[in-house]
Amino acid sequence: MRKIKRLRCSKCGSTYGEEVMYYCPYCGPSGTLEVVFDIPHVKKKLTKEYLQDNKNHNIWRYLPILPLDGLQGAAPLQIGFTPIYKSKRLEELLKIKNVYLKDEGRNPTASFKDRASAVGVAKAIELQKDVICVASTGNAASSLSGFAACMGIKNYIFVPKTIPEGKLAQLLVFGSKVILVDGDYDKTFEICLEAVEHFGWYNRSCAINPYLVDGKKTAAFEICEQLKFNVPDKVIMSVGDGCSISGVWKGFKEFYELGLIDKLPVMVSVQAEGANPVNRTFRKKTREFDYQLPQTIADSISVGIPRNGYKALNTLEESNGIAVDVSDDEILTAMTTLARHTGVFGEPAGVTGFAGLIKLVESGAIGNDESVVLIVSGSGLKDIKSAQKAVSKPKLIKPDINILINYLNE
Ligand SMILES: *Cc1c(COP(=O)(O)O)cnc(C)c1O
Ligand SMILES: [Zn+2]
Repeated sequence: MRKIKRLRCSKCGSTYGEEVMYYCPYCGPSGTLEVVFDIPHVKKKLTKEYLQDNKNHNIWRYLPILPLDGLQGAAPLQIGFTPIYKSKRLEELLKIKNVYLKDEGRNPTASFKDRASAVGVAKAIELQKDVICVASTGNAASSLSGFAACMGIKNYIFVPKTIPEGKLAQLLVFGSKVILVDGDYDKTFEICLEAVEHFGWYNRSCAINPYLVDGKKTAAFEICEQLKFNVPDKVIMSVGDGCSISGVWKGFKEFYELGLIDKLPVMVSVQAEGANPVNRTFRKKTREFDYQLPQTIADSISVGIPRNGYKALNTLEESNGIAVDVSDDEILTAMTTLARHTGVFGEPAGVTGFAGLIKLVESGAIGNDESVVLIVSGSGLKDIKSAQKAVSKPKLIKPDINILINYLNE
């Protein structure tokens, strides 16, 4: 493809042409490839004027810098261009001046993953693949499931048995063939990889497929456009495999290289204390990921081996990034605090970034005159059981005004 210059390994830096389908042949699956665009070529088309004139308010407006030939595989759904809110109540609570919230729960299947799945399905169609598959803790699964349904592509979805019921329901309603794996996400990922090798299906995993994070980067483009090209000081995200944060960082870098913005944000990686391999490794300043059994209520980021760990580390190193860990209790508190101040209800991983923001403000690592964009990566309705842990059930009240008065006075 003319606009793509090469594919570059995030681990060893070797470069390849598009004939390599997935990861670095030298490093294996941990050497995820990054799509390097021919910026001078893209620049001829992608300008501020082009964006101003483009009435297509979804991720397809960025086609000049997406790894697709055209839009024949583009799902006709409202992907991306999720709202960004400036939250006064949050600013008052945190005592900082500019807090913006990007609500990714507003995507078609209610998470950030839709940006990647949209590109994955479009790419599968472009490559004339009959079957697409993914291993996922839940959101990439439900997302691929929805897009495959929309475009009529056969799909196999590998999920761990711990998947929240809401996400499983999405898969079944969308009609995917579901492989419910008796094991955790790490095991699920491995059996899916084996199946891909055996059957030759197209793998949608962002941690294997080089093109998928280019869907995720569109969130950065939107932040730039929505904030009138005033780049925020910090962008805060929850991190599991590391595809999302590295995707968003790639987006900012590309807009910078295109001359559309004049600075880059600091990327903040927030992980759960019980599943923090990216942050742990970043702090140790090594590039060796040591496995620990993941344990967190935030299922979407419950990862023992970060499958896009090198891209995530590169992101933190390049952006002068910050890594912060939060406990499950802090995540649950963040869920209700965010909902009660903004009206945005996020799933545990969706609000993990917010838990990190609270911590960084308290420690002074984020100053009160900084501008911050917080990405809320998934809707709370996907995982009601976890939400119920953050609140208590209401008492049952007889329909009687005196009982009601007593209840309200309790
Ligand atoms: C997948 C996911 C993340 C983390 O993305 P990674 O690419 O795995 O780091 C965060 N929040 C939600 C809701 C997710 O589904
Ligand atoms: Zn490599």
